[in-house]
Parts: sequence; structure tokens; C-alpha cells
Amino acid sequence: MIRSIRDIDVENKRVFIRCDFNVPLDEFMNITDDRRIRSAIQTIRYCLDQDCKIVVASHLGRPGGVVDAKYSLNPVFKRLTRILNCNVKFASDVVGSDAKQKAASLENGEVLLLENLRFEKGETKNDKNFAKELASYADVYINDAFGVCHRAHASVEAITECFDEDSSAAGFLLQKEIEFSKNLLKAPTRPFVAVVGGSKVSGKLQALVNLLPRIDKLIIGGGMAFTFLKAQGMDIGNSLVEDDLLDEAVRVMDEAKRLGVKLYLPVDVVAAQTCSQESTMKFVPTQEIPKGWMGLDVGPASTRLFREVLNDAQTILWNGPMGVFELEKFSKGSIKMSHTISEAHATTVIGGGDTADVVARAGDADEMTFISTGGGASLELIEGKELPGVKPLNTKEEE
Ligand code: AMP
Repeated sequence: MIRSIRDIDVENKRVFIRCDFNVPLDEFMNITDDRRIRSAIQTIRYCLDQDCKIVVASHLGRPGGVVDAKYSLNPVFKRLTRILNCNVKFASDVVGSDAKQKAASLENGEVLLLENLRFEKGETKNDKNFAKELASYADVYINDAFGVCHRAHASVEAITECFDEDSSAAGFLLQKEIEFSKNLLKAPTRPFVAVVGGSKVSGKLQALVNLLPRIDKLIIGGGMAFTFLKAQGMDIGNSLVEDDLLDEAVRVMDEAKRLGVKLYLPVDVVAAQTCSQESTMKFVPTQEIPKGWMGLDVGPASTRLFREVLNDAQTILWNGPMGVFELEKFSKGSIKMSHTISEAHATTVIGGGDTADVVARAGDADEMTFISTGGGASLELIEGKELPGVKPLNTKEEE
């Protein structure tokens, strides 16, 4: 089990909280979705109530170890201040003089947000010295950044070496993410249906393999479906395909059959000659994709089929869009999938940033049981991997 912030004593202490404030921004640096900031509030408020001195840190984007105003956490600072409704301080660097001076003068019940962790080269290199400098800000380390727990980065992994088990733990968000995924895979209410989509088989192959023995039905949509359709001998035109994985696709289908897992692929698609909003599109059965055309979304018959398949589900896990949902023209399959899942009388778990986006765009976010804040991290949990950021926080019995 993962150690919770509730299991350790944080009262009156200096606390370092690693959050995941990697929020989407528009070209004017406006935050377009602040879910990740709101998700971290519970842990920060808990520490405020415990009269802690709180240093909060996060990365944003991939500035590559150099200071770049485009990736400043300033917009996050403003939003955090508004949501917390208290005086938050902002340091213009991470381990420079401004951060050090502001951290040293923090009063109990105050919050200091550091600048983007990835402005420092040491962060993504899991550098021990950089981690030590971060650790020097605090007596207690809390990780609430599920979205980066699959990365061995300094503020996620190396830093844990500076704290013992009485002074390091998971925040509420991380704890919820880990427990939800574990319980979902360990004891799902049946029928358990997994809906998997997105662009590539390669990215999700291991997750599929790990899911198969646990699920009753598997729906495969999105670009990755075409590798499976081609492996069945179908002519898929110019659709996305990974020819080197055709054998793997056959293996997954064989394994599903062996385990008695019902596997469903799209029966029709929205096809176009180019992947653009302007291109002419048509609805065709998967057997009839014209030469030179590609499938960019699942079609209406597939949507109806998938709805039938999901009808009796008690647990649904959805990871990966059904089509190129970024373009309105090819978003219907994903939006309808979101509606179907949100209306199901089932435990519904959404994983992956793109899928969470679809659900938000469809207006279904409040109807889902759980939306994971981490894309790669939630996929690695499904794959059965131990996350480098989580391992050091596990209680002894678990290891
Ligand atoms: P992933 O990161 O593997 O989960 O893939 C997400 C991406 O898959 C999204 O950006 C979609 O636009 C893309 N995608 C979904 N369906 C298709 C498709 N039929 N052809 C090409 N790309 C797709």
C-alpha cells in the first residue's frame, strides 16, 4: 500500500509538495483546462490546515533544462492563488537566490510556488544534487503528481532518498489514483469492458496484453484498430497501420479467443483522402475503404455496435479516442463513445489526457466515476509496471 499524507506527521512542518500542474495553455498563455490544479487543492489545503510552510513545485511542458518564458508557471501561480483564495508567493527560479530567500522567509500557513522544475537540467536527469537542493526546502516530502510518477525525475524519484518513511508520502490525489487503478484491475465488477483507442498499437500493446486476462470484452477503435483489421486480411487503404505489429495483433486476437474475451473492432469508418477538416468524407463499411482513402473515425454502425456491447457492462475502462477527435469532422465517434460510457450504469474509469479531453468536450466529465489525471502513468499502471515515483512511497509490507 502507498503511504498516505495522513499516515505521517506534517503539523507545523516545512512541506515540499510535488504537483502536476502541466496544464494546457492557449497562445495567450491562458489556461484552457485547470483540472490538474484543482485536483491538487485537497492536499495543499490539508497542509494549510496543519499550519505547514508549503513549497509547491511542478513542471510545465518541455523547456529542456533552460529558462523559457513560454513555459513559466506564472499563469499557474495566478490560478492557484485564485482557487486557494490565500496569499501564494511565487519564486522566479527553482533553486536560485529568489526561491531560497522566499522559502526561508515562509511563515506557517503560507504557500510558495517555485518556477518550472524543468528550467533546471537536473530535473529530468534525476540528478541527486539537484534533488538535495529541492529537499533542503522541507522536512516532509509529498508526491501528488501522478502524471509524472512513471518518470524517474529528480523531484519524483531522487528526492525520496533525502526523506525517510516518516517524512515522505503520497498526497490525496496520488493515493486515489493508485488505489483506484489497483482495485479496478484486482476486483472489477463484471462484465468488465475495456475500450482502447488512440493512434498506435505499439504504445498500448503491453496494456492490452495485461488487460486481456482481467476483462470480459475488449473494444478496439481509433487508428490502432486498422492494424488489427489488416491482420484479419482486410484492405484498409491508406489508414494508419503498423505493419511490423501485424503478428502481435494476431497474437492478441488469438489470446482473446483462448481466454474467452469477446473482441470488437469497428465495422464501419469515416473515411477521407486527407486528414483535414476541409476534406470530403464518407461513411463506409471497413471492407469498403476506397483505395487512397483512410479511416479517421469509427462510423455510425460501429457506434451502435459498441453501445450494444457496453449495454450490460458493470465496469468500463476507456483509454484512447475512437478517431482524430481534434478535428470536429472526425470527433463524433469519440464524443458518442463518451456519451455511451457516461450513461452506463457502471463504474467508469477514464485514462489518458486525450480521452479526458474528449470527455470534457462532450460535457460528460461529471458523469464519470473517475478520470485519471495521468496519461502515460495510468497506462503503465494498467501494464502492471511499478512506477518509479510510487515505489519509494510504498509501505514496507507491500515490498
Ligand atoms: P494516443 O496518443 O496513442 O492515445 O493517440 C491519440 C491520437 O490518436 C489522437 O491525437 C488522435 O488524433 C489519433 N487517432 C485516433 N484515431 C485515429 C485514426 N483513425 N487515424 C489517425 N490517428 C488517429
